[in-house]
Amino acid sequence: MRIGEGFDIHVLTEGRKLVLGGIEIPSEKGEYAVSDGDVLLHALIDAILGAKALGDIGKYFPPGKEYEGISSTILLEKVLEISKVEIGNIDSTVFLEEPKLGPYIDKIRENLSNLLSMNMDRISVKAKTMEALGPIGEKKAIAARVVILLKESTMEKIKTNKAPGAIGPYSQGYKVGNFVFTSGQIPVNPENGLVEEDTIEYQADRASRNVGEVLKAGGAGFDDVIKTTCFLSDMKYFAAFNEIYAKYFTSSPARSCVAVKELPKGVLCEIEAIAIVK
Ligand code: MG
Repeated sequence: MRIGEGFDIHVLTEGRKLVLGGIEIPSEKGEYAVSDGDVLLHALIDAILGAKALGDIGKYFPPGKEYEGISSTILLEKVLEISKVEIGNIDSTVFLEEPKLGPYIDKIRENLSNLLSMNMDRISVKAKTMEALGPIGEKKAIAARVVILLKESTMEKIKTNKAPGAIGPYSQGYKVGNFVFTSGQIPVNPENGLVEEDTIEYQADRASRNVGEVLKAGGAGFDDVIKTTCFLSDMKYFAAFNEIYAKYFTSSPARSCVAVKELPKGVLCEIEAIAIVK
């Protein structure tokens, strides 16, 4: 799990727009900055970069002519591209004396929801005055603090080059938590599109070993399989396959079935397995 925190503060000055979360708020004063000065987006950007330990906003957008008057929405889009984050939820606070943000909060949340492609109920925006204390209380500045939690996919791709005779992506699997998922296919002879009856045992052996290698790459073995199914393109292969397949997947509740299923052209069999890494 990863958490990110960001803070930003800007001087408030007359003749500038007040922009928060990409929304323009009617106000006598606005943020003084090279960009539009959107403190909320700047704090959010720092929270995103912080969560991935990628530095801060200044590293990617150093103050300079290039970013003069730029909308912070564009900066956020660039940071989303760089960081590739998936945000779980956001909590934020804007510190300002006036205007009252109440009427604009949902508009800001909705805009953030669109910018980040996440539900509004996972985006919190709060407003707080400083009770007339300090530069914010004296209406000379505005600040924002943002905390985010990243959604981290626990799905990990497993790849092995040891799988014998598997087609392309079928020498791969996935690991999610303690579970390993594989789906291995064995092709028929590309020369004639047929499998000779006398090689069927070999094919079955190869298919089973194929799954075994992917399981191994995921930290599991045949003994850890909790469910497996072997699909054949034709019932005539059943006897041979059933025997060989049983040799590898010895636990009877795990070896759920050998069945016939329509498989992609040129595929003799497909074995799926789910294992638990102990
Ligand atoms: Mg800033």
